[in-house]
Amino acid sequence: MIGSLKAATDITKAIFDLKTTAEIQGKVIDIQRALLAAQSSALEATSAQFELQERVRELESQLKSVGDWDKQEPRYALASPWRGAAQVYALKTSHAQGEEPHYLCTNCFHNRKRVILNPAPKDGWVFMTCPACKSTTSTGYRGIGAPKYAEDVGREG
Ligand SMILES: [Zn+2]
Repeated sequence: MIGSLKAATDITKAIFDLKTTAEIQGKVIDIQRALLAAQSSALEATSAQFELQERVRELESQLKSVGDWDKQEPRYALASPWRGAAQVYALKTSHAQGEEPHYLCTNCFHNRKRVILNPAPKDGWVFMTCPACKSTTSTGYRGIGAPKYAEDVGREG
């Protein structure tokens, strides 16, 4: 009698323990789930915030380059320094701001980029090449002088 009572008590205790453990485990799992959900939405929020920051940075840099371009564009004029053979954008004296005369690639200029053309001799002729878009234009000359300001292009014949 004492023995079976003890056994029942033991079993009850064991069941109680089991039930409690199961409940605790259940609660632990619930808490873990809640934590995981919280972590994942925190991660999502962080990555959404990161994406937004990236986008802001991107837009700021676009805005800056547009602003820069608005300042650069009026400094140049379309010119034909080699008797109509090739057109370039030449820096205006009035807008030189201390910069030496130079010619810009028309193709890149239309894409809002300032890329200085380089003279390159080829088969005895001088070509103007763009380091950015790789466009090559013949000057029609075997030798060319230094670049001139837009106002001076064509003045010396
Ligand atoms: Zn170009």
